[in-house]
Amino acid sequence: MKRHNFSAGPCVLPREVMEKSAQAVLDYDNGLSLIEISHRSKAFVDIMEQARSLALELLGLEGKGYKALFLQGGASTQFLMVALNMLEKRAGYLNTGTWSSKAIKEAKIFDDIYEVASSENAGFNYIPKGYDIPENYDYFHCTSNNTIFGTQMKAFPNSPIPMVCDMSSDIFSRTLDFTKFDIIYAGAQKNMGPAGTTLVIVKEDVLGKVSRKIPSMMDYKIHIGKGSMFNTPPVFAVYTSMLTLQWLKNKGGIAAIEKENEKKAQLMYSEIDLNPLFKGYATKEDRSFMNATFTLENENLKDTFDTMWKEAGINGLNGHRSVGGYRASMYNALSLDSVKVLVEIMSELERKA
Ligand code: PMP
Repeated sequence: MKRHNFSAGPCVLPREVMEKSAQAVLDYDNGLSLIEISHRSKAFVDIMEQARSLALELLGLEGKGYKALFLQGGASTQFLMVALNMLEKRAGYLNTGTWSSKAIKEAKIFDDIYEVASSENAGFNYIPKGYDIPENYDYFHCTSNNTIFGTQMKAFPNSPIPMVCDMSSDIFSRTLDFTKFDIIYAGAQKNMGPAGTTLVIVKEDVLGKVSRKIPSMMDYKIHIGKGSMFNTPPVFAVYTSMLTLQWLKNKGGIAAIEKENEKKAQLMYSEIDLNPLFKGYATKEDRSFMNATFTLENENLKDTFDTMWKEAGINGLNGHRSVGGYRASMYNALSLDSVKVLVEIMSELERKA
């Protein structure tokens, strides 16, 4: 049966990428597996260099003072690393949900953090707007896409101080002026590859301004100096991410995938809006094009609906354990056809009910 994978991450990846990376595990270099060759071999160093330069190229950041790193510890380690490398006196954070809250919690280990705005009062179903970013702070941190509640920042402030953004769940999905950001980080396991590596893009000139001693593994400068090879990198995750970035480039880059993502999101949200059995969670103007969150108006239909989508080969539609309901994650590699299958099940439920 064809599966339609709406999982929030780890999630669907392009089939051709998985075939290539599976093959590389068996034989990458003259009978040697990708995961048994030295990370210092030319074969792997080339992979790392390609992955780093493709990431910058796709984001339009080549030659603009940025460096790309593939690190470990997930996006969650970046909550801490950003603060260690950037926080001297005070930072401003926009709190748009669970992940922003976790970033704030880690930064608070070092200092009081100022929340420039928060949507917690409304269950994080919208993105705060019209807030001020204090000019004398070290940096401003935001989360571009709220994976759990299904909201997405459609516009970014013109920050007077360095802007740091957690783009874990929508990087490479839409065109933006990425030069607005000074640090971008994203766990690979949504639009890029398997879990195990985190892409970190750093504008070099924002570094070196804190007085604390930074442990080596936490220090962006050290990772940059070592070409993202300070210690043994997660070779499989980096290789598979590199293949996904190549796949995206061959498709026409972010502008091309953005058009597909818009079509998928429009189809999904028009069903949520037109079908009286369902209700969208996020405020319309802030709806995420990656994660559509919705609930059933009548919980009595839950068992029927759940059976229907499971029988259609759909996977990963349950909402995050903290909010319940449903969440259709429509990352780059999910096809429009998969969204059509889900939407068809939703209208069939309406016909049946
Ligand atoms: N930030 C966002 C926006 C996320 O969606 C996630 C994970 N889903 C994280 C951070 C945490 O990422 P990791 O599990 O790689 O630490």
